[in-house]
This record gives sequence, structure tokens and C-alpha cells, in this order.
Amino acid sequence: MNVALGKAGLYRKSAVKKQRDLFLEMKRKENPDYDFITLQELRSAMNTLPKAKPPKPSRRAYNCATQRNETLDELYLGLLVGQIHLWENGSTINWIARSDGYPQDGQAIEAAARLCQAAEQWNEVMDGRVRFQYVTNFDDACFKLEYGGFKGPVLAEAFMPFQYGMVLNTVYVYELLFDPQYRVHMLGTMLHELGHVLGLRHEHAHHVVHGWGPEDIKDIFESILYGSNNSQSVMAYYMGQTIQDSDKEDIRNAYDDLMDGTTITGQGRFGLVQKTIERVPPNN
Ligand SMILES: [Zn+2]
Repeated sequence: MNVALGKAGLYRKSAVKKQRDLFLEMKRKENPDYDFITLQELRSAMNTLPKAKPPKPSRRAYNCATQRNETLDELYLGLLVGQIHLWENGSTINWIARSDGYPQDGQAIEAAARLCQAAEQWNEVMDGRVRFQYVTNFDDACFKLEYGGFKGPVLAEAFMPFQYGMVLNTVYVYELLFDPQYRVHMLGTMLHELGHVLGLRHEHAHHVVHGWGPEDIKDIFESILYGSNNSQSVMAYYMGQTIQDSDKEDIRNAYDDLMDGTTITGQGRFGLVQKTIERVPPNN
């Protein structure tokens, strides 16, 4: 893998600021009637959470069926048009959890407590590089946790750094996550989702077909492999994911080494891919 200094990051700073200003303006205009979980509720729920179940390999048949012949074993970075977005070092990502909108009592607080547990684990791993923090004021939140209803086989959905232009960032949990067989692995799901929020892509990012256009735009969706292989990565698809030592090492190295404007060339799905690192501020 080659890493070389590039200029691209310099002039994109203004675009980042403009986008952030737009977002803050929209958020100010939003006047939600949402109810949110208080810090006290969250703390007491954290104390009563049942222990997370140990991992269970490949129970998500909808994934296994489509990817059984592929290797699911690397840490990938980068989502869009020639760029890899990571948060600026030292960022605090504020989040808030809705207490309304769930079909059953107890689901909101359970999801929030699991996300909080996952956030604490990541905070330890990131050791100050990026920190998640629960807030109780909607205006201060970078993202909210919310129930997204029924979405077929999808358990949860997150966002990646910089996806904040026109909408408030949301981590969604869907109906299936509360099905007993997935519910016991909720912590793993939350760890995985927060991995996305930190900028990580799926292990099988190289294997997802997006309906390719011309060869010269291939890197729009191409990811770059960074670090070591581990089929048990928190970003792999299995139930009850845990953060692996290799995940810890790779993400710390990424946040320490991949500075704003750095160009990284790495192995993509169809060959070498080059992307530029952009370090972005959270929209708290
Ligand atoms: Zn995912």
C-alpha cells in the first residue's frame, strides 16, 4: 500500500464548512416533538442489561446465502467518490436516543442502553481519537437513535462520517432486531453500526455489486483494504460481533496515520484504487 501526501484536502475545507453550516441551519429549523431518553434512565438501564450472548456464526441466512462463496475477512475504508472520510482526531460524536416511536415498552431503552454499551467499548478502543457521548439536548446531537419500523431482513442501519449534508444523522433499529434470536446479539449489532459511524465499511465491501457504470468511475464505490485480515472482524456479518484485536489496531493506525489530504492507494475490487483522506468535524 502506498501513502503519499496530496493537495486535495486543502481546498475541500471550505466545502466541509459550507455543508456543516447548511446542516446546522436545517437542524435549527427542525422542531421535533420527539421524546428522548434521559441520562438517568440510560444509566439505570445500563446496570440491568443482561449479559451479551457469545457470538454465533452465520445465523443471518439472507447474508450467508448470497455471500457463502466469498471471503469476509478484511477491514475496509471509504465509501464515495475517491474519498475516505474519517472524523477529525479528538472529535466528540454526540448522540441522543428517542424514547418514543417504538411498538413495545422497553424497546427504546434497551436499544439505547445497548448502543451506549457499544459506545463505551469503542471509546476505550479509540482512546481519545474519537469519543461518543450521550447528550440530552437534541440541538447538541450529531445523530439520534430511532426506530425505523419493518425493513425486511435488515436489523439496523447507520451512517458514515460526512453523510450529514441534508439530513440529521440517524442510527436506525428495525423490527427484526427485537426478534428473540437477534435481540440477544444486540450489542454486537450496535458495535458493528458504530464501526460504520467511525468510517469502516463491511468486510465484504469488495464483493458488493452496485451495478457498475463505466470503468473510469469504478472507484466511486470501491473500498480500500487497510490493515490485516480477520474473518471475525466486528465489521463482518455474523451474529454477536465483537471488536477484535486486529480491529483495534487497524482503526487506531488509520486514525493516527491517515491525515487530511493524504492520498492512499490500495487494493480495490478490480485492482488498485486511489482515494484521498478527508478528516471531517462532527455536526454536533
Ligand atoms: Zn453494516
